[in-house]
Amino acid sequence: MTSIQPIKTFEGSRKAHGQQARVEDTRGAAEDFRKAMLAGPKARYFRSFDLVKVPYPSRYGLRNAFSHERLVEYIHLQNRVFVVQFDTDSGVKTLLVSPSDHERGGETPFFRRLQDKMPQFITNRVVHRQTTVPEVVAALGLKPEDIDYITYDHLHTQDVRRWLGTHEMPATFPNAKLLVHWQEWESTLDLNPYQADWYCPNGIAGIADDKIIRFEGSVMLGDGVALVHTPGHTEGNHSIVVHTDEGLWVTSENGVSVDAYAPHLSTASGVADYAKYLGTEVIINGNTLENSVDQYISMVQEKTIAGPSQRDPRFPNVFPSSEMTRFWAFPGTKPAFYVGEAHHGSLFSP
Ligand SMILES: [Zn+2]
Repeated sequence: MTSIQPIKTFEGSRKAHGQQARVEDTRGAAEDFRKAMLAGPKARYFRSFDLVKVPYPSRYGLRNAFSHERLVEYIHLQNRVFVVQFDTDSGVKTLLVSPSDHERGGETPFFRRLQDKMPQFITNRVVHRQTTVPEVVAALGLKPEDIDYITYDHLHTQDVRRWLGTHEMPATFPNAKLLVHWQEWESTLDLNPYQADWYCPNGIAGIADDKIIRFEGSVMLGDGVALVHTPGHTEGNHSIVVHTDEGLWVTSENGVSVDAYAPHLSTASGVADYAKYLGTEVIINGNTLENSVDQYISMVQEKTIAGPSQRDPRFPNVFPSSEMTRFWAFPGTKPAFYVGEAHHGSLFSP
């Protein structure tokens, strides 16, 4: 039995002919959705855990907005997992959002080439492994079989085989099912070469069909947790929205920083000036540029759902799962606003 319910609010919001008309129609729908979600119940538990810091090209993360005056080719991304628990008609469910298997994700062709050309002593300085997903679960006192769902906003760099298991490999989380937008699943099975460079080879190969829940459009998973289709970065991209006592957290990798959603305030080199002369309200994270017009709409949608941060209301309450963080080796990349961490509610032991 599943209690996953469709969300109708965004249906048709991207149908206008004008590109900015689509932005405004989606913004309006996002305001309605925000009100509805805030009027509803909260999730039981939400907590972030830092997994690994990795370098990522500034030309993708901040596109043309980042100034190259100082020849800084990379930004430093703090990648993290979120543990979320929520009530449903069939009891409390535990969800891992963005549980990257970073020991395997390095096989993604783009990162494989980067590692191969980078001397080991440099790799050791720019890749910081902090913890792993099984360690996070164990440290919370949860058992592997307590994990009901895993989800990623999209499947770039992900290898889910260890978590879900294959015929050759037992599952780390034997009861977990992957929640994935059907378009993300279908495209990962049959990739264009430009997109394939960012997907872990065989990252979803050999996984039993009953481990996958493909959803369409946007869905409510239970009390206070929604998956909202936010296409653009990839066709099947979605954002994870969680209602907490700090408002609605919105998580994805559409932007590499909260600065990307309020670029006029950014302290990253060149970003605020770029936003002003372009008149843009977001900076898209575009490594593959599947559809930048849709990604722009999706980022406006995300920041509208998120609303103002309680930590600094000038910024939206988005929580990037890979967040640009300051690093001495990459000058000019310190963001104006860094979320870092959040911890709400108390853990339920199934
Ligand atoms: Zn991506």
